[in-house]
Amino acid sequence: MTALPFLIGTLAMIAIVAVRYLGVSGGFAWLTARRGIVAGPANEVRRRRQIRSEIGWSLLSAAIYGLPAGIVAVGWHELGWTRIYDDPLAYGWWWLPLSIAIYLFAHDTWFYWTHRLMHRPWWFARVHAVHHASRPPTAWAAMAFHPYEAISGAWLFPALVFLVPIHWGALLVVLLVASFFGVTNHMGWEIFPKSWVKGRFGSGMITAAHHELHHRRYLTNYGLYFRVWDRLCRTDAGLAPEFIDEPRPAAAASPAPAGQRAGA
Ligand SMILES: [Zn+2]
Ligand SMILES: [Zn+2]
Repeated sequence: MTALPFLIGTLAMIAIVAVRYLGVSGGFAWLTARRGIVAGPANEVRRRRQIRSEIGWSLLSAAIYGLPAGIVAVGWHELGWTRIYDDPLAYGWWWLPLSIAIYLFAHDTWFYWTHRLMHRPWWFARVHAVHHASRPPTAWAAMAFHPYEAISGAWLFPALVFLVPIHWGALLVVLLVASFFGVTNHMGWEIFPKSWVKGRFGSGMITAAHHELHHRRYLTNYGLYFRVWDRLCRTDAGLAPEFIDEPRPAAAASPAPAGQRAGA
């Protein structure tokens, strides 16, 4: 087999990831505007500049994410690489939800620890400051990462499919969940019912009310989907009060001093 199918597959995957980003972020940005909510900086010039920058970094990330995904997808389809399977009963029905949970937990764990590393001053200044330039973020910030940060996230699922069996439909669910939370956690308002966010769902899952505080305070709320690592490592600062209709305490209103932002 020549390299041509890999080249075509990779270019196609980059296009798919980019279109998915533009579609999902654009859709939720539209929904945000329809609700009369202004996400991002209050100043319109700053807001437009920030959104342009979020889209630029995100499209660059789409190219980086598409590269390993495209190679693995062609290898899976043409050469039988990977442990992605077709028959939903191959490992039993129970494996379908369990494999989804394993993939999401692995992603969450990788994200939490690399995210904490990227808040060390050296890494923050060179890499992660790009993501935190969104203050506050908008739906377009979902993939706004420095290329090094994009590389750290791009290889995880393409590697996992060689290790942990997953049905292609379950993998699709994992990617949908990743897209949904990546966008909605940045869009400046809470899409889930407030009773959920304040209840059992919100005590375990990360939603916009949780991640907004990370963009505001920097040194708390590092997780991606689940609050488990933040709770275990005592980095969980709870939820942005105004997202769940609670009065905002004065301490939460002021961002961390510049010297603390990049700390561990
Ligand atoms: Zn973020
Ligand atoms: Zn961060």
